[in-house]
Amino acid sequence: MKDFDVVIVGGGHNGLVASCYLAKAGLKVAILEKNDSLGGATVSQKVFPEYEARLSRYSYLVSLLPDQIIKDLDLKFKTIERDVSSFTPENVDGKDLGLLINRGLVGQTADDFLALTGNSDEIAAWESFYAEVQKLADAIAPTMLQKLPTRSQLKEKVGHKIWDEVIENPLGAVLERRFKSDVVRGIVLTDGLIGTFSDTNNLAANICFLYHLIGNGTGDWKVPVGGMGALVAELVDTAGKLGVTFVLESEVSSIAQVEGKFVTTASGKSYESNYVLANFAPQKLAGVLVNGAAKPALKSLDGSQVKVNMLLTKLPRLKSGTDPKLAFAGTFHFDERYSDFQLAYTQAAAGKIPDVIPAEMYCHTLSDTSILGADLVAKGFQTLTLFGMHTPASLFEKDNSGSKAIILERLLNQLNQYLVDPIESCLAKNSDGSLCIEIKSPLDLEAEIGLPRGNIFHKDLSMPFREDGTAPSWGVETDVPNLFLCGAGAIRGGGVSGIPGHNAAAAVLEARGL
Ligand SMILES: Cc1cc2nc3c(=O)[nH]c(=O)nc-3n(C[C@H](O)[C@H](O)[C@H](O)COP(=O)(O)OP(=O)(O)OC[C@H]3O[C@@H](n4cnc5c(N)ncnc54)[C@H](O)[C@@H]3O)c2cc1C
Repeated sequence: MKDFDVVIVGGGHNGLVASCYLAKAGLKVAILEKNDSLGGATVSQKVFPEYEARLSRYSYLVSLLPDQIIKDLDLKFKTIERDVSSFTPENVDGKDLGLLINRGLVGQTADDFLALTGNSDEIAAWESFYAEVQKLADAIAPTMLQKLPTRSQLKEKVGHKIWDEVIENPLGAVLERRFKSDVVRGIVLTDGLIGTFSDTNNLAANICFLYHLIGNGTGDWKVPVGGMGALVAELVDTAGKLGVTFVLESEVSSIAQVEGKFVTTASGKSYESNYVLANFAPQKLAGVLVNGAAKPALKSLDGSQVKVNMLLTKLPRLKSGTDPKLAFAGTFHFDERYSDFQLAYTQAAAGKIPDVIPAEMYCHTLSDTSILGADLVAKGFQTLTLFGMHTPASLFEKDNSGSKAIILERLLNQLNQYLVDPIESCLAKNSDGSLCIEIKSPLDLEAEIGLPRGNIFHKDLSMPFREDGTAPSWGVETDVPNLFLCGAGAIRGGGVSGIPGHNAAAAVLEARGL
């Protein structure tokens, strides 16, 4: 039996952040991780072993990680801002066009809005909507590393009608009122549906939307230099120097309370501690609690996305004539019209793979080539990540590999509609002739990194406040005293943020009077 002040179950980036804060405060901390490496959904891996390309295999962009955490922990982790926000190819009356949205709506953006929508109303609507959303970000971002504000406190801070539009009323109604174009409505909506299986009338979409727009008060999604693994490497290094004990290949099977202490058992060994932080999902926590400890609430949406990782010898040319280096520099949306989302949701909810799967892509290597070996950089290799939406876990239950094959083929055919060079002709090949492309379903995510039903946020996201009249909280408490959530499943968890890790550490330090 080993004795620690705090045992952290799971070595995802949030568990690592928590461990650093706690060890810095002088506590003895152990992380028990089921896999043979740390990082959870925040890792870089050599996905195609024959090539020196370390891909962000699961998560890939950073927005929610507060600069404060980087500063507090003195992390040598850098991100790059992208000038291009997004590009969306669209065929209008037989003509291949595209909507390039630059940061600040400069350059080609106004022309593209005009060509695609026929007037300047949509760009004006865009500008005014996001200027108002900024008020939410300004008010909410500074509260993320503090105790939860109440609904009324936050509403008063925002002090603008955008609160009612984004927090209180379904996102679909707001988008239908503010925008006219199916394409433009769809681009705005994507932030509400990433990893969230919801229609436009469910507030789940609002919450997801909010989390995509408040990071560091700007909502900018930045490229992690060196890939996601660079963040984990830096956290592991920092935690190691602070004396944190890592126990890998240790799957926690029970957490019991014995004479006022926790006893956590992993792979046959037991660890005693005064506090336990759960970095794994609350649903998994409920499965290992013994001695009648209260179980956390479990109702949650299924994960609903496929992630496709690709290595390319070159970027494909576009039918719209847009330079691929511009088109793929930001988020590349395809078939993410508002109507595509609505139809895909209806079909998937009825148990059918959507005829058209809304999807978006991102090219890491246009911003940062450091994830590639020097020879691949010299040869002009690129990487692409594709996120296919509204493909819930239930669609894979009967035949995971069969459904993945159908979905991958559908996605590539959809993409090829907008390309001069079919994507297959741009993919690197392995020595056996197979293409360098992999697809991960929600069920794969559960098997590989323990995300329940593939939910990338562990469970449904929550609004970043508490209701008036409820007890003060860090958003990490469970029904068991001294057992806190420190992962994505906490209030204000979800995404690569370190926020629940910080907040769980703060709850422990507060309980100890530190
Ligand atoms: C495909 C994909 C793409 C994403 N893209 C982005 C993105 O671009 N940007 C973004 O901000 N967010 C993204 N996300 C979401 C984000 O990655 C996660 O919400 C976040 O990484 C969760 O971090 P965490 O530390 O809380 O938990 P996790 O990363 O889930 O870590 C939990 C850890 O617990 C371990 N564990 C599980 N069960 C046990 C057990 N019984 N015993 C011991 N250990 C256990 C797991 O192995 C894992 O290491 C994405 C997620 C996925 C899956």
